[in-house]
Amino acid sequence: MNLNSVVEVKRPASADEIRQWRDGYAWLAGGTWLFSEPQDATDTLIDLDQLHWPALEASSAGLDIAATCRIAELYRFEGPAEWIATPLLRECCNCFLASFKIWNAATVGGNICMSLPAGPMISLAAALEATLTLWPRDAAPREVPAVDFVTGNHTNVLQRGELLRNIHLPARALSRRFALRRASLTQLGRSAALLIGTRSVHSDDDLLITITATTPRPLQLRFDRFPSANDLRQAIDARIPADSYFDDVHGVSACAPSCATAVSLASRRAATPAIAAPARSGSTGCRCIPA
Ligand SMILES: Cc1cc2nc3c(=O)[nH]c(=O)nc-3n(C[C@H](O)[C@H](O)[C@H](O)COP(=O)(O)OP(=O)(O)OC[C@H]3O[C@@H](n4cnc5c(N)ncnc54)[C@H](O)[C@@H]3O)c2cc1C
Repeated sequence: MNLNSVVEVKRPASADEIRQWRDGYAWLAGGTWLFSEPQDATDTLIDLDQLHWPALEASSAGLDIAATCRIAELYRFEGPAEWIATPLLRECCNCFLASFKIWNAATVGGNICMSLPAGPMISLAAALEATLTLWPRDAAPREVPAVDFVTGNHTNVLQRGELLRNIHLPARALSRRFALRRASLTQLGRSAALLIGTRSVHSDDDLLITITATTPRPLQLRFDRFPSANDLRQAIDARIPADSYFDDVHGVSACAPSCATAVSLASRRAATPAIAAPARSGSTGCRCIPA
């Protein structure tokens, strides 16, 4: 839609050109959310496109994803054979409720900065233990763990004018086995619960579970010893009280108990055969049926 409140679009070649931040400014990435509803408080868009950050840079340390990397670019990434979690990138892209336009225009950073519960790039970054590099306007760059970036529904740790620059996925995490389970209230609908488990290839004990979409912000459960289904269910219940599930039209509040059960059972199944598989594993959608 047209944004009638916008009177200027800046196209800086470097983020340093924007030193003074004022009310009315907004960073523009893919624009898929910015142009989807009125932005009455915004009069100036600052387009990130001309910064020309390389979308994806792989090294022995891991994968650096520029905030401006498009979802379609991430989807096409092919990692080295030892990064057996690479298919998780594609699986998380597939968790978007996305049209062709969103798929090709939306950015990884835009999705993380939107900080919606069903933001699949948040799920991906948290599950693969990413570190986010943030560029404040008037201070040195800082780094935050991805799992701590989102603080609630549509809120995060970004300070005024601060820019998300980079998402670093460590090689260690990319080399873990994984499984993803997604629950939605409708067949192709937005995620109501998204759960990702990862395990080391060297140990059958450890397990890292990342829960998103069903909670306002990502939650992580780390186990040194592989939990029984009951232990896993209890750990999820202890971490997510019944009234803490995210409550909206796509959410699961009406069916939280059954969804929690489904999620914990799905996660247990995910954790066992799929994560135990030596190489690439697939995802399974599961519908949440109200109790
Ligand atoms: C039909 C439809 C379906 C959608 N489906 C989903 C979905 O399934 N899941 C979901 O999470 N969202 C969804 N969205 C919302 C939105 O499109 C996505 O979150 C998308 O990933 C946003 O990315 P973008 O690059 O287009 O961000 P933009 O719209 O350009 O920006 C989004 C916000 O983030 C800020 N921002 C962008 N990049 C940066 C940066 N690098 N540093 C600091 N701030 C930044 C902007 O200022 C703005 O406030 C949907 C939207 C529509 C219209």
